[in-house]
Amino acid sequence: MLNLLPASEKRKQFELYALGLRDFAGVQGEQPLDPFALAEFAKLLVVDFDQIEGLSPESRQHLLGEGADQWSGGACSRPLPNGWKLVILNPAHGRQRNRATLMEEVAHVFLGHQPNRLAIINDGLKAGARGNKDKSGSKQTLARDYNHDDEEAAYAVGAAALIPYAALQRFIRDGRTAHQIARHFHVSRQLVEYRIKVTHLWQAYKGASTARPEHV
Ligand SMILES: [Zn+2]
Repeated sequence: MLNLLPASEKRKQFELYALGLRDFAGVQGEQPLDPFALAEFAKLLVVDFDQIEGLSPESRQHLLGEGADQWSGGACSRPLPNGWKLVILNPAHGRQRNRATLMEEVAHVFLGHQPNRLAIINDGLKAGARGNKDKSGSKQTLARDYNHDDEEAAYAVGAAALIPYAALQRFIRDGRTAHQIARHFHVSRQLVEYRIKVTHLWQAYKGASTARPEHV
């Protein structure tokens, strides 16, 4: 038997928000959701990394090379004069991960999250230290512009909007692999596995995998 919503109360809430977002985007059932289409409604302006001016070749090289693991992208906390917010995505992470990052930013907007004031103040104080790698962990502070609960909710709702529970359950029942499901929704396999785990479908997934030929 298939359930429409995950069992836990928290996940149920996240799922309902996610279904609201999918509904708003006009996608149904198993259809993949395009976060780039939703970004416009959230007044998020996605800027290509290559369009950023004023970055030295060294910074550029660092952000896309050695430092590429340390940022996935995000929205600038201060809106533009016209009310839109800039979002920058890490091109080194590929389109699939970019979709999850952007979806999280869209979810923040739709859930009405307000950036964490303290973090903004910290940003200002540490602005002078941005260029050098200090030991105070300012990188983390700079990245955390929403409180922990809001971060969790936005990530979870975003992931649920990209990979809805009912469809995930059906795909698993039909013996599809995480890789195949990821391809269907244009997301990473890791995101699919995260969804399988948090919605408690892992056991069903493992059970289905014994019936599945390998290397698929
Ligand atoms: Zn966030």
